[in-house]
Amino acid sequence: MSNTLLKGGIVYDAAQNIKKQRLDVAVQDTKITELAVDIDPLNFDEVIDVTSKIVSPGLIDLHCHVYHGFNSTGVHPDVAGVGSGVTTVVDGGSAGHSNFGGFPTYVVPDSKTRVLCMVHISSNGLSVMPELRSLDDIDVQETTRVVRENRPLTQGVKIRAIGPTTETEGINIVKLAKQASIDSGTRLMVHIGELYHDGKTLTHELLPLLDIGDIVTHIFTPNRGGIIDSNNKVIPEFIDAQKRGVTLDTAFGRYNFSFDVARTALDQGVVPNTISTDLTLPGRETSVYSMPEMLTRFLALGFSIGDVLKMTTSNSAKALDMADTIGTLKPGNEADISVLEIVDGDWHVSDVKGVFLRTNKAIRPYITLKSGDIITPDLGPHPWGFLPNQSL
Ligand SMILES: [Zn+2]
Repeated sequence: MSNTLLKGGIVYDAAQNIKKQRLDVAVQDTKITELAVDIDPLNFDEVIDVTSKIVSPGLIDLHCHVYHGFNSTGVHPDVAGVGSGVTTVVDGGSAGHSNFGGFPTYVVPDSKTRVLCMVHISSNGLSVMPELRSLDDIDVQETTRVVRENRPLTQGVKIRAIGPTTETEGINIVKLAKQASIDSGTRLMVHIGELYHDGKTLTHELLPLLDIGDIVTHIFTPNRGGIIDSNNKVIPEFIDAQKRGVTLDTAFGRYNFSFDVARTALDQGVVPNTISTDLTLPGRETSVYSMPEMLTRFLALGFSIGDVLKMTTSNSAKALDMADTIGTLKPGNEADISVLEIVDGDWHVSDVKGVFLRTNKAIRPYITLKSGDIITPDLGPHPWGFLPNQSL
């Protein structure tokens, strides 16, 4: 173990009200020990010059799919995680109660990245899709048991409120998932955005079931069951959910993020809490690409660097009730740190509809510290790395 000094970076830490301050960050073994204006480099084994780089608490991806080796679309946690500037990943229900054991037995020990999980209400998670074909695929008691027995690795219960059971069973499927989240003392994460079915959607009925701390994901989906009605108005149940303190997550995935929906919602006062990827293997190759590119998308939508970092650090930590331990650079905490670079250029970023936005700033990972270990980023999702496409 060693001592590392990050020297000369521009620090953002919303949890400590630090915004764009030039500070050095000292790390001893696995912990952050000091943030100060000019720390003497003499006593450090390693001094890393991060002048003009952004130094942020380790990014948190609140929704991605990392059941690597178990689900065919699962990325390795370190691909979604430390290889991409992210130190904590939350699996969005890749496993259900019957096949969850692979996480603690194989996936977590094989990962440098901190892995947390939502357990899917469908018994087999997302190993077969659609994952809910009838109520036979749901066992509230077993789901509750697996969530309870695997705390704190498990953080909640997941359901995709999409067909075919939306049509055959209706809101009952969400009620059962909510029950498992209550019985396990955790939270519910609900996917909105219909992918399979022409029939009924549940969004109007399910939003009132969500309490403070529950998470609605894919809020900017352009698909049926989204938050915008046919008159281009945000549905009132969604506004009420925002007022109650339901966490509003923007996961992208392959099908569920539209700049037009985002703009319509933002113009009407929707304030998303968190930015996440919903990363999968195909999503990394063809649509969402990476968490840094998600951040660049939000810069293109007009958010500030401070905003996008807050939405992937302190806000995401709060969403997990972990604000004391992750998502901040407070001395004494685990040294989970993302050093990022802002690269000027004429970039363009895309949504799932093929709509492009231009932006003159893109974010790419520079180095990542996980529990004090220094990790350089992987090669990135594009042939040229992490930066988005350039405008023609
Ligand atoms: Zn997902």
